[in-house]
Amino acid sequence: MSAGPNYHATVLVLKKTKLGEADLILTMLAGDGSLIKAVAKSARKPTSSFATRLDLFCESEVMLVRGRNLDIAREPQLLNSHDAVRANVAATYAAAPILDCLAQVALPELPVEHLYAMATSALAHFDGVVEEYMPAITAAFLIKLFALLGVRPVLDRCISCGKALDETIQASKGSDVLVAFSFLDGGYVCGACRNTLDCVQIEAESLRWAQVLLGATFDEILAMKVPVEASFAVLHFCNRWLRETQNINSKALNQLLTCGLF
Ligand SMILES: [Zn+2]
Repeated sequence: MSAGPNYHATVLVLKKTKLGEADLILTMLAGDGSLIKAVAKSARKPTSSFATRLDLFCESEVMLVRGRNLDIAREPQLLNSHDAVRANVAATYAAAPILDCLAQVALPELPVEHLYAMATSALAHFDGVVEEYMPAITAAFLIKLFALLGVRPVLDRCISCGKALDETIQASKGSDVLVAFSFLDGGYVCGACRNTLDCVQIEAESLRWAQVLLGATFDEILAMKVPVEASFAVLHFCNRWLRETQNINSKALNQLLTCGLF
C-alpha cells in the first residue's frame, strides 16, 4: 500500500458495525490478505451508495483516506456482489463463518498470500450449489485456512510416531471408529502413543474427511458430493480447533452448526 494520504484497495467486506447516527465501521479483507477497518460515512442512509456496494460478501474497489484513528472509505466500485450467497438464506448461513473467521484471523498490515483468492473462490463456488453440499465448501475453506496460516492439524498420521490413520481405521470394525486426538499437541495420536499425550476421543471419519477436503480443490469437492453429515463433522472439528488452539470463538460457525437448515 502506498504511503500517501489516500490509497486504493480491493476489498471483501467481512463485517459491518454501527457507528453513531448513520455511519458504519467496515471490517474488510484487502486483496493482499491483510485486514482493513475503515469508516463509511453516512453509509446507513437509504440513499447511500455504500448500501449495495459495501454490503457483506461484496467485493469492491475502494478509496481509503488515512484518518487519525480509522481510515475513511470512499468511492466504492462494486466488483462482485456474490448474489448467490446473499440471496439464499442457507447459503448465507453456510458462508457466514468464512467472513467471521477471516475477520478474526486477518491482521492489519500483515499480508497473507493467497488468502483473498481463496476466500473469494470459496464464495464464488456457492453459485448454483444444492443446499446440502454448501457446508462442504465452508468446511474445506476452514481446513485450508489453517494450512495457509501454518496452524494446520496433523490429520493423517500419528503426531508422535507417524503411524498412518488409515491403518487404525482398517484395523477397526464398524463405521463409527473413535480415535485419539491431541488438541494440545496438534494432531491424531495412534493407540500405542495415546497414553503419552493429552488426548480426547474423536471420530476417525471427521479427520479422514478433513484430510480429503484439504487436498481437493473446491471444484473437486463439489463433484464429490460430500455427505452433509461428513461436512458437519469437519465443521464441528474446525470449531473445536479454532477454540482450543487459536482462542477463536466464531459466532457464525456456532449458528451454522445449530441452524437446522441442512
Ligand atoms: Zn503413534
